[in-house]
Amino acid sequence: MNIVLMGCPGAGKGTQSVKLVKAFELAHISTGDVLRAEIASGSELGNKLGLIVNQGNLVPDEMMVEMLEKIVKDTDKGIIFDGFPRTVPQAKALDAMMQRLGRSITHVIMIDLPQEEVINRICSRRQCKKCGAILSVDLKNPPEKCPSCGGELYTRPDDTCKRAAHRLEVYRQSTLPVKEYYQAGGKYVEVNGNQTPEKVFEDISKILQK
Ligand code: AMP
Repeated sequence: MNIVLMGCPGAGKGTQSVKLVKAFELAHISTGDVLRAEIASGSELGNKLGLIVNQGNLVPDEMMVEMLEKIVKDTDKGIIFDGFPRTVPQAKALDAMMQRLGRSITHVIMIDLPQEEVINRICSRRQCKKCGAILSVDLKNPPEKCPSCGGELYTRPDDTCKRAAHRLEVYRQSTLPVKEYYQAGGKYVEVNGNQTPEKVFEDISKILQK
């Protein structure tokens, strides 16, 4: 099972990936996490990537494909691709790469969310530095610590309300055409993302168990 998990920023791809990894024993490849780790390392490449990612823009396709291939080659398990592909050239490169490796994408799942909800979710998203939990906080009264482990909460630099509209526009222009690419291939399914994370997970699980 090799799954492409699609959805606009804030749709819940990261949250669902954590649940799916546990339930279906999959490897999780989040290109956003890979990029953030490189940025946090302070390397020359990381500094260049930081300028792109923190503005809410997309990293060039060739860099992403090269980065991804190294990780996929090291993974024997089924994979959840979270945040990749984000452009049609990336989707084509992923198909070609999987074929070269004797593998294929088995499911493409879109977590669908109304546009009004997207900005709200991005602005209110916080992540725990300690356990990695992703929370949606009440902006009028945000918690100071992670309710699960007491760790420090932070806002990703690209998760500000200011960046949200731009990221949504990048998504509309570059990533929505990926949906058409996969629809034509017949493996594409949508789930309603405007439900509790538990219900979204239930819906995705049903698709994977068919
Ligand atoms: P995410 O954690 O998936 O929301 O990704 C955070 C940011 O990393 C995105 O807004 C992009 O700047 C960058 N990024 C992640 N995945 C990709 C990708 N497949 N192609 C280009 N840029 C990406």
